[in-house]
Amino acid sequence: MRENNFASKFATMRKNSGITQQELGNMLGVSNRAVSKWETGLALPSTENVYKLSRIFGVPVDHFFDASTSVKPAPTTEPASSGMKSLEGIYRIGFGPSSSHTIGPERACEMFKAGNPTADNFKVTLYGSLAKTGVGHGTDRVIKKTLAPSPCEISFNYTEDDLPHPNTFDIYAYSGDVFLSQSRVASVGGGKIVIDGIEYGEGEDVYPENSFEKIAQYCERENIRLWQYAERIEGKKITEYLSRVWHEMKRSIADGLADDGILPGGLDVQKRAKQLYNKQHIDESAETRENRMVCSYAFAVSEQNACAERIVTAPTCGAAGVLPAVLYYQQQKRGYSDTEIVHALAAGGIVGNLIKTNASISGSECGCQAEVGSACAMAAAALGDLFGLGFDKIEYAAEIAIEHHLGLTCDPICGLVQIPCIERNAVAAMRAINAVSLASFLSDSRKISLDKVIAVMKQTGLDISKQYKETAEGGLAKLKVGR
Ligand code: SF4
Repeated sequence: MRENNFASKFATMRKNSGITQQELGNMLGVSNRAVSKWETGLALPSTENVYKLSRIFGVPVDHFFDASTSVKPAPTTEPASSGMKSLEGIYRIGFGPSSSHTIGPERACEMFKAGNPTADNFKVTLYGSLAKTGVGHGTDRVIKKTLAPSPCEISFNYTEDDLPHPNTFDIYAYSGDVFLSQSRVASVGGGKIVIDGIEYGEGEDVYPENSFEKIAQYCERENIRLWQYAERIEGKKITEYLSRVWHEMKRSIADGLADDGILPGGLDVQKRAKQLYNKQHIDESAETRENRMVCSYAFAVSEQNACAERIVTAPTCGAAGVLPAVLYYQQQKRGYSDTEIVHALAAGGIVGNLIKTNASISGSECGCQAEVGSACAMAAAALGDLFGLGFDKIEYAAEIAIEHHLGLTCDPICGLVQIPCIERNAVAAMRAINAVSLASFLSDSRKISLDKVIAVMKQTGLDISKQYKETAEGGLAKLKVGR
């Protein structure tokens, strides 16, 4: 059996290395009991940990298994999960401008490189959306950077359409001219990757519930808020992680507001966050000021993303400006503490997680409704939670937010995450505030659940023509820049 092959080989390797179970557990961030279970065949490490082990012991991943058996854990084509994964998968800290075009490929290349320690050169073929908009999104740059110092030759295949996912690439490892191994990678959104049909790095399902209805029922029964639900499932470490996330979001806003000049990529797009922040009307109304402030924060983060700076996916790089803009504005206006904001991030993260689990957060899979639409729903839920609204109103706010993004296309000009992405983040941030306002007045007349709208979003996304899903083949992407 595959498990037994792994157990015996792994146990021998660990003992020969002189590393104790405790030491290995510390290196991997797991308990010594978990290591013991791997050695006795009672459990298998996650795929990510198999890669880490291959790096620690300096052997290829396949070395842990017999050649006649497969290294692969369960394929992603298995039935949809019955639960949800950690909120950490929604809020990933990394370099922009695109979670599926930069953060995902970066992770996949790191893992492939670790699994091929003797490789001294690589080749990569980009397909689908990665080929068509990869240069604009910086996919080629991030792949070369991750595989460095070994050189990597990158080619672009624009015609192949028999692909497991629109964001697919093949990667080949060589030692000199000798071929070592090959993998097919799909970067499926939000930094999540699938290598040779196996989903990586998302860990196990940790949330038993996978619908808003069930989560709200549980919380109401237990008389807890959404952040307490997240902490009850994931432990205090999720709150600590979300504190880091909030810190990074605030830093992105500050850096973006201090920045000016032209965005990279050749479209000659001016950075406008600083200008928006400072350009006050003489007789500015409170409403106009709110609009200007919220939008300037969204521009700030989105421009940092377009510059390939460090940002937090929420739930993706392209939509990273919406949620921080809404929460930061409220913190400035009403003095909410960082702790209160972190709790709101948990509420928004749960909605993002529901969308990721039951639909998609990938623009190339379901259009911009899956990115900015999801971000708007997350921001609406987070703001509703911050305002202390009940579950019904929080749900309604998120439902309004996603419903009014249905069908939104992903067709950025030149494949750059700039036009329409940056303005779109600002518009969605204002829409989230509007959704919360409507929900707080009208939730008793609500007719549709958030769970149902999420399902509709998925079907709509599948029905959208591929021209409008990050392929640069239609819509705005065909426009020539200039008035
Ligand atoms: S149009 Fe939307 S989905 Fe497409 S790259 Fe821009 S923000 Fe992302």
